[in-house]
Amino acid sequence: MTKIKKIGVLTSGGDAPGMNAAVRAVVRTSVYKNIECFGIYKGYQGMIEGLIKKLNARSVNNIINKGGTVLKTARCVEFYKKEGREKAYNKIKEFEIDALVIIGGDGSFTGAIHFNKEYNIPVIGIPGTIDNDISGTSFTIGYDTALNTVVESIDKIRDTAISHNRLFIVEVMGRDAGHIALNAGIGGGAEEILIPEEDMGLERLLDSLKKSQKSGKSSSIIMVAEGDKTGKNVFEIASYVENNMPEYEVRVSVLGHIQRGGSPSCFDRVLASRMGVHAIDTLLNGTYNVMVGIKDDMMVLSPLEEAIKGQTEINKDLIRVSEILSI
Ligand code: ADP
Repeated sequence: MTKIKKIGVLTSGGDAPGMNAAVRAVVRTSVYKNIECFGIYKGYQGMIEGLIKKLNARSVNNIINKGGTVLKTARCVEFYKKEGREKAYNKIKEFEIDALVIIGGDGSFTGAIHFNKEYNIPVIGIPGTIDNDISGTSFTIGYDTALNTVVESIDKIRDTAISHNRLFIVEVMGRDAGHIALNAGIGGGAEEILIPEEDMGLERLLDSLKKSQKSGKSSSIIMVAEGDKTGKNVFEIASYVENNMPEYEVRVSVLGHIQRGGSPSCFDRVLASRMGVHAIDTLLNGTYNVMVGIKDDMMVLSPLEEAIKGQTEINKDLIRVSEILSI
């Protein structure tokens, strides 16, 4: 095992608020520990193209509060192939980089696993994704900020919903995981929450709306995750409700990419800072090919293979809470 002297840090896949705070922590911890740190721009694409620059403690000034990623990110098709990864290896060798910190989601970690197997480069993953769909950590960087963005949006939608006696169907991100919908739905006081993990059925939705209407509710917010299990998109759900309850004025709001942007919450900044420090500590202690996570407010490590495995569980208690409170 060679002593690590130079590390590269990159952000990859979907951007998430708090990635910059993680980059800052990785760079500053490296400098603190007398390790040279290189920023690799545009994720794996930058590794292939050699978009690599040495960073120092001052390079990451004033970014802790910024959304997006100053290192940029990219989806890199070439990295899926052996030849692409070989080009990437040759480039990082030119810079004598001997370990990598990858900030991204499960796709980025899958790429990192292949890269490590082929070239034996030590890698550490930091989970950065708004979806919170990575095993081995209770929270991913960006998730808390995204929840707050969604709740703020729902509060605004509620103002107009109440004023017009309208039913709003709000689509939030989450193709495979309902964490955002479920949590922001409860936080925003949504009447029903449709998620990929549970098929509630559209009839149940109608029953619930009818009951609420009888009890005097004149406006409602339904939260739908992109990949909700009914298999219907928000516009189809809206038509279904309108056809069955013509007395309701239904509107659809797709929150889309605003959920990714914005200044990271304090929670995400602290999480990213802790994960960045812990990633460098871990590398220097000689532990590789793991992801840094948080559980019970403690930093934990899990093999990258575990981190990308399957689905994360939703908290069933939240479903119960939502059902009780939406009467
Ligand atoms: P995320 O990391 O947010 O899940 P992606 O799934 O887009 O985002 O993955 C980011 C990048 O990681 C891809 O553009 C690609 O370069 C690399 N990657 C993803 N999956 C693989 C794979 N199976 N093999 C090699 N590289 C991969």
